[in-house]
Amino acid sequence: MSFDGKHAIVTGGARGIGLAIAQALAERGARVSVVSRTAPDGDVAFFRAACDVTSESDVAAAFDLARKHNGPVAILVNNSGIAESAPIARTSLAMWNRVLATNLTGSFLCTRAAVPDMTAAQWGRVLNVASVAGLAGAPYIAAYCASKHGVIGLTRSVAAEFAGTGITVNAICPGYAETAMMRQAVEKIVKLTGVDEDAARAQLAAMNPEGRIATLDEIAATAVGLLSGERTGVSVVIPGGHEA
Ligand code: NDP
Repeated sequence: MSFDGKHAIVTGGARGIGLAIAQALAERGARVSVVSRTAPDGDVAFFRAACDVTSESDVAAAFDLARKHNGPVAILVNNSGIAESAPIARTSLAMWNRVLATNLTGSFLCTRAAVPDMTAAQWGRVLNVASVAGLAGAPYIAAYCASKHGVIGLTRSVAAEFAGTGITVNAICPGYAETAMMRQAVEKIVKLTGVDEDAARAQLAAMNPEGRIATLDEIAATAVGLLSGERTGVSVVIPGGHEA
């Protein structure tokens, strides 16, 4: 499918998975806006509005700015996210709140800001970047896991609300992928266990479906596939393509 002229907002689209999805959408003709707290590392050709997705007023202002620049929102990719880990007994309330606010509340606030345009157009696409941790538990990441399970619940509920209206809402659930977030996890394993980087990467790969690190290309391709189709309420695991 071509997204010719459609305005796509990608949260956290200045780097990592969000940037890969933003580029894939732009290659297919979408007018891409990125919202994030910091500017991209290198040259990125998209309109960017500064925005902390945990802030209701930031989201409203950034979406208004993006609309002025690229028109009504047709596609929203809720990708912004943070990962922090600790045993549950050492998970502070501040950490819990930070992770839930960014991954779950941020997705809610951005979805709420985007759907009026989609309702008016009787067409829209929302894609939530969840995680395999949104479908299954893993030790030491209770806040992250709870936030991503929440994102799957948000996906299913909003999909049900808009069923039959031309608006679809889906999720992708990547396993570990080579971004700043994964590099942070590798560093933490090296520091805490004393293994070398390769061994740490191998541990993370072993936790993924198919036992390998997900590539940004396959994640972007799955995102584009869901955004192109009519299916709604599904969560697709990458690698593997299993659905929930
Ligand atoms: P990165 O750390 O590379 O990118 C995270 C992005 O989120 C950045 O662009 C960052 O921008 C943005 N972000 C973080 N906090 C906020 C905030 N408060 N407001 C606005 N933007 C914010 O990570 P990834 O690319 O790996 O992660 C992208 C998504 O993919 C996340 O939701 C993550 O949970 C998910 N995911 C990642 C996996 C992995 O192994 N990499 C595996 C499974 C899921 P800025 O700091 O400028 O605000």
